[in-house]
Amino acid sequence: MDTKHWVVDKHQRNLESYPQIKEAAGLLKNNEVVAFPTETVYGLGANALSDKAVAKIYEAKGRPSDNPLIVHISTIGQLYKIAQDIPEQAERLIEKFWPGPLTLILKAKENAVSKKVTPGLDTVAVRMPSHPVALALIVASGLPLAAPSANTSGKPSPTLAKHVADDLTGKIAGILDGGATGVGLESTVLDCTGEVPVILRPGGVTKEQLEDVCGAVEVDRAILTEGEAPKSPGMKYKHYAPTAPLTIVNGSMEFIQSLVKGKQNKGLKVGVLTTSERENQYEADKIIACGSREDLESVANRLYDVLRLFDESDVDVIFSESFPSEGIGQAIMNRLTKAAGHKIITE
Ligand code: AMP
Ligand code: MG
Repeated sequence: MDTKHWVVDKHQRNLESYPQIKEAAGLLKNNEVVAFPTETVYGLGANALSDKAVAKIYEAKGRPSDNPLIVHISTIGQLYKIAQDIPEQAERLIEKFWPGPLTLILKAKENAVSKKVTPGLDTVAVRMPSHPVALALIVASGLPLAAPSANTSGKPSPTLAKHVADDLTGKIAGILDGGATGVGLESTVLDCTGEVPVILRPGGVTKEQLEDVCGAVEVDRAILTEGEAPKSPGMKYKHYAPTAPLTIVNGSMEFIQSLVKGKQNKGLKVGVLTTSERENQYEADKIIACGSREDLESVANRLYDVLRLFDESDVDVIFSESFPSEGIGQAIMNRLTKAAGHKIITE
């Protein structure tokens, strides 16, 4: 399949009437799949109302067919067509965080979207993205869009159009290239179907921010404890891990440097994942700065690209510094810990 590549400037006004967006929307209306930038990561969109269109998402990504998709909308009207019995707490969260990186799990209206979007479930995941290109595409297509991250299953989520092209060229109808995404990690997934909302996946909106709006919020135990069965179907799948084994180190620079030397003495090439503050202070075979420690949002923003860059290098092992688990740090450490297969060394 020929994959179109359209470059769009997200700062333009009336994006929905731009030829690139109109062409991409036309393909979506024809039940093709198109990748587009959001404020979290690139999404792979298809008409959420069509079985045929949604099946193409699973096929292009190689995604297990029991892993449900998030429906992306541009108006509240679309929400009421898809979900029912929306609790008051959820309404308050919507008011505060939409459009934005918060996905809500709500009771689904029967037959409102393709069964392939919510395989075997009576709930549906919904989000209104804030990225102007994403919103314009939804408006121009006139459709709710089912959209997981636009990577091959098992690879890190794409934060640049290049990542999407590397994974999916030839497998999808087109890529809308709006430059680098914002948050750089996926949306927070919040289950709003019980008494107390539960975070199923930490992400762009933090626990602290949610609690400010709706009081106590729980975190699915599977996120905090290895071996617990997660409530979100997608969280049970093996997550991306770089080709070279990654170990997170809780300790000083000197300690990390000694681990590096130890491996080098055995003839191995060693990579270090650090931040801009310290990138010139290590001696290793490949040192990559992942944002700035002073600004954890920049770490989130760079993380997936940095993991892909290590895969393009020839290192045998990687040591990563660790990050505080507060605020966006919870999502960073969740993704990093998975990429490390839970291997953490403490000094
Ligand atoms: P992705 O679109 O690849 O970022 O993944 C979406 C995440 O939301 C996956 O972890 C899914 O398992 C999860 N998800 C989607 N729909 C539901 C749902 N109805 N209930 C629980 N989790 C869901
Ligand atoms: Mg994904």
